[in-house]
Amino acid sequence: MILELFIPAENKASKIFRSIRWADSVYYPECKSFDIYKRGFTDERKITRRYSCNNCVKDFTDFAGTIFAIKNLPLGEMFYILANQNKKSTKHLSEKLCHKW
Ligand SMILES: [Zn+2]
Repeated sequence: MILELFIPAENKASKIFRSIRWADSVYYPECKSFDIYKRGFTDERKITRRYSCNNCVKDFTDFAGTIFAIKNLPLGEMFYILANQNKKSTKHLSEKLCHKW
């Protein structure tokens, strides 16, 4: 039996992403400083957190320095694609997500 994975909601996907990305603690990827300041979220849905580095005074988000920084798909859909890319065809994934590729 093949288990069908679900498409996680954006708020759950972002919490999962942060728990993996910042497993040790939040740091600025450019200067590697852990001396950061949390500045809330970039959006009203509270999907992406915004931070400032106290070391070099630059702003960044949860996705800084990752492929997710240039995303044009919802994070939950990207998780779904990554989890299923070796199991399902591109056609199946696009139909499931209602996208044309
Ligand atoms: Zn810095």
